Order: sequence, then C-alpha cells, then structure tokens
Amino acid sequence: MRSETLKPKKRRMSNITLTMIKPDAFSKNFSGKIMDKIYDAGFTIRAMKLTRLSEERAKQFYAVHSERPFFNDLIRFMTSGPIIAAILEKDNAVDDFRKLIGSTNPEEAEEGTIRKAFAENIERNAVHGSDSNENAQIEASFFFSGKEIF
Ligand code: ATP
Ligand code: MG
Repeated sequence: MRSETLKPKKRRMSNITLTMIKPDAFSKNFSGKIMDKIYDAGFTIRAMKLTRLSEERAKQFYAVHSERPFFNDLIRFMTSGPIIAAILEKDNAVDDFRKLIGSTNPEEAEEGTIRKAFAENIERNAVHGSDSNENAQIEASFFFSGKEIF
C-alpha cells in the first residue's frame, strides 16, 4: 500500500455552510424534524456536535452584532441551553441554506421554510445559517477541528 493512501482524504472545504439548531428548537425536540428538512433539501453532513456556548464564546460568535440593542438578550438566549452545530455541504450551500431557513423574523418567513415552521420570534428563531462563504469557513473552524470534519 502506498503511504499516501493512509493519509486522511483532503477534501476542499468549499460549498459548505455552518448551522446551529438554537436552544429554543433543541429544547422543544425539533432537531429531528429540522434535520429531515435539511436532508430533503439535498445537504449532507460533514460535521456535527451537541454543545453549549459559554457567554464568552457566544459573544465571540456574534461579535458583529455587539453594538446592536438586542445583543445582550441574544447572548442570554444563545447560552440558555444546548445547541447542535453542524457543517453542511451542497452546491451553493450558503445561499441555498439561507433560502431553506427563511427570513430572520418568522412572521416574514416563507411557507415551507424552517423558521416558518419552527421559530417562535425574531430572536428565538430556531436555526442559524452562515451569511457568506468567508463566514462559513470562519464559523466551521469556530466549532470543529480538522479531525472532526468528515
Ligand atoms: P443568524 O445569523 O442566526 O443565521 P440572521 O442572519 O437571519 O440569523 P442576523 O441579523 O445575523 O440574522 O441576527 C443574528 C441573530 O440575532 C438572529 O438570528 C436573531 O436570533 C437575533 N436577532 C436579529 N435581529 C434581532 C432583533 N431585531 N431583535 C431580537 N433579536 C434579533
Ligand atoms: Mg446572521
């Protein structure tokens, strides 16, 4: 056997997005139904874990919103219980996943979207999806080491 066949397969980390099933949806046992919609839309899982954000980590993840009036509430919510973080793969993953989850405010989300079906309100909105390819890479590395990505 040639030595390079023993090395882990290096796959390009393109066409990925990072999602979180947020504490509201996880605590209501919506994770399975949400995952069904994600699979039905053609995404595959490269990495996945159940975890809980500390205050420090949540502030880091949402640093871009630190000056917004809803920031403290958002951090309280996102640290209130476990989340499922996952790296999803598909052609055009970032844009297609944003379409699948729907608008930030579930009242404005289209029928058939994850937020329309499972979100409570603009804050407790069930899922996160990366907003650019660059942020997808940053957010994937925030949650997963190379060994945890398949
Ligand atoms: P996410 O980044 O979680 O995928 P998003 O990109 O649709 O959501 P952002 O503008 O990035 O929305 O806001 C990040 C998160 O902050 C939202 O998902 C929501 O939980 C919360 N949030 C956003 N706007 C408000 C608001 N006006 N009031 C309360 N919470 C808000
Ligand atoms: Mg966002």
